[in-house]
Amino acid sequence: MSFSFSYAGSPAQIVFGAGARHRVGDWVEKLGKRHALVLSTPQQADLAKSVAGTLAKSAAGIFAKAAMHTPVEITEAAVAFADDAKADCLVSVGGGSTTGLGKAIALRTGLPQIAIPTTYAGSEVTDILGQTERGAKTTLRDRRILPDVVLYDPELTLGLPVALSVTSALNAMAHAAEGLYAQNGNPVTSLMAGEGLRTLHKSLPKIVARPGDIEARSEALYGAWLCGTVLGSVAMALHHKLCHTLGGTFDLPHAETHAVLLPHTIGFNAGAAAEMLAPLTKIIGLPAGGNLFDFARSLGAPASLREIGLKESDLDRAARLATASPYENPRPFDEADIRSLLKSAWAGARPKD
Ligand code: NAD
Repeated sequence: MSFSFSYAGSPAQIVFGAGARHRVGDWVEKLGKRHALVLSTPQQADLAKSVAGTLAKSAAGIFAKAAMHTPVEITEAAVAFADDAKADCLVSVGGGSTTGLGKAIALRTGLPQIAIPTTYAGSEVTDILGQTERGAKTTLRDRRILPDVVLYDPELTLGLPVALSVTSALNAMAHAAEGLYAQNGNPVTSLMAGEGLRTLHKSLPKIVARPGDIEARSEALYGAWLCGTVLGSVAMALHHKLCHTLGGTFDLPHAETHAVLLPHTIGFNAGAAAEMLAPLTKIIGLPAGGNLFDFARSLGAPASLREIGLKESDLDRAARLATASPYENPRPFDEADIRSLLKSAWAGARPKD
């Protein structure tokens, strides 16, 4: 086999293991910092307090107002808070919403970041930031917003509700699946994608059966890191574009939208990208879309866009918006193709690929 590819490894320090969160103070020190601002959502304020407690004198304060899709007004309030508190670094404890706030502050202030993820979204290892202002979502890529240190502590995922564990992990699997056929894909990211898909496929049924199984949680978080790294390394295609449109314009919940659409988008691309998707089909079998649908059903994931809040009358507009600007995808498509895909996903039909 002859290879020709380009690959840039991430400079971030990854620390993985049960209890890793307790070493946050060491990492603040290793960064040469003394005043860390701890970020979280309101729902995870207690966890933020406990992390700030670990930091003791190096804690500059807690800002527990992170929200989905990184609203700019919250970021601005957080930047002012960081300034008042004389913070010299950020510690984001939570899922993609909290990591997003950390990145948005870093973009505006240059403060270094330590991320302590508690879901499988993967944002902590990407240079991607989606922000919302007056209802419009924009996305940027900037190497300067990549967190410097990521502390992966599976103990923090033990309390992640099963429903969110499932949809968040399917969100992670979507990064890996689309990474396999990325136009700038390479053997390294494909290895990571295959391993990420394998570990999540294996650990998810165990988590559904026993949410407190630390080994399964550890395996899933490891898989999520790999899948997130793929997202941060190569370009995404149809699946992520559709999720972005549905989340940004119709306010559908992030992880659930990924979970519903994944079987449909992979089913749509399966024929055109059969060889590239081999690491996935080795795990899930054929047909890829139909089997992903069955897998998601077996875990109790939502089956249809209808049940997560999309109206049938929105389908035309969603298809139009999602096809308004061209982008790479293994299988060419037009608005009618996407309308039909969305209609199946809306109704909760099993893809026929
Ligand atoms: P989230 O961060 O919005 O979390 C959902 C809810 O679950 C929140 O209330 C949170 O506090 C709570 N939660 C998180 N972890 C928990 C735990 N272990 N135990 C109990 N409760 C917990 O959800 P998410 O799916 O991780 O993130 C979604 C956001 O991340 C979206 O805004 C999405 O656009 C963004 N995202 C960005 C990237 C990127 O690379 N930029 C990648 C993936 C997701």
